[in-house]
Amino acid sequence: MSRIYIGPRSNFKYLFAAIPFFVSLMVLSSAHAEQVVVYSARIEQLIKPMFDAFTKDTGVQVKYTTDNEGALLARLKAEGKNTPADILITTDAGNLWEAARADLLRPVDSEILEKNIPPYLRDPQNRWFGLSVRARTLVYNTRNVNIDDLSTYEDLANPEWKGRLCLRTSKKVYNQSLVAMMIAEHGEAKTEKIVRGWVANLATDPVSDDTRAMEFVAAGRCDVTLVNSYYYGRLMKKTPELPIAIFWPNQNSSGVHVNVSGAGITKFSKNPQAATKLLEYLSSEKAQNLFADVNMEFPANPAVKSDATVASWGDFKQNSLNLAKAGELQTAAIKLMDRAGYR
Ligand code: FE
Repeated sequence: MSRIYIGPRSNFKYLFAAIPFFVSLMVLSSAHAEQVVVYSARIEQLIKPMFDAFTKDTGVQVKYTTDNEGALLARLKAEGKNTPADILITTDAGNLWEAARADLLRPVDSEILEKNIPPYLRDPQNRWFGLSVRARTLVYNTRNVNIDDLSTYEDLANPEWKGRLCLRTSKKVYNQSLVAMMIAEHGEAKTEKIVRGWVANLATDPVSDDTRAMEFVAAGRCDVTLVNSYYYGRLMKKTPELPIAIFWPNQNSSGVHVNVSGAGITKFSKNPQAATKLLEYLSSEKAQNLFADVNMEFPANPAVKSDATVASWGDFKQNSLNLAKAGELQTAAIKLMDRAGYR
């Protein structure tokens, strides 16, 4: 009789006895599930769709943390070889260059990345790769400016533009990178002359951001300014009636100054194979549109078409000087702008 009652109780015993076994199975399987950890200076809404698509296609999980680039670089430095991060994503070649200079990134050997990303949009040692392109270009008032009078960045230093130019503050990395690339092209003396010319032509003190600069142009407070093309896209989406338009400068010379959002694999990545897979995926046709279109940028992979709005701004020649120069010459650019009185 007693056995009849013992039976069920001993089943419970077996069940409880089995729990540690199931727990250890779960731990084992999570350790074996491939995972990539990303530190991103791009906000969640700009990266999550691509990560979800990558996980769906490959089964590799992506964990990410977003913060500004300064905080992420400081964190990578502080964590050293204990960092959980496999990949750093950030905007501007100057920031990517700084991460490489601080020895936070490793060279990546990938035929796919070398095929998909043109040499001028990646580190010469392949420690970072541009994944989307932003163009820093001219925006002008369509009522006050004859388009035939526009030509180059350098021309905006000429006296015919006196009192007609608006510029964003020199404190932002965007104009620092532009000036750094001009130093790479022209040398310091000529670049300083150009920047002095810009300052002499200003209609107002430098403004806080690209959108404000375009609003000043639209309001007729100045006739022309320099902005990243996606800010133009955003502003025109909101207020299409503004009398402003994009102009692609330097088409008969060096081309339009471009910059990138990009990524690299951390020096102490625990999972560089899966991280390489993710970078390759981000450079592929499928992800390139997701990466570029969400922020009205241009795909870095030249085989991929821009989204319709971006394409409507017209084709243009990009400056193909290697973007590492924007980092190398950033300090020189900041000093030069300061000497030239560009605040
Ligand atoms: Fe921006």
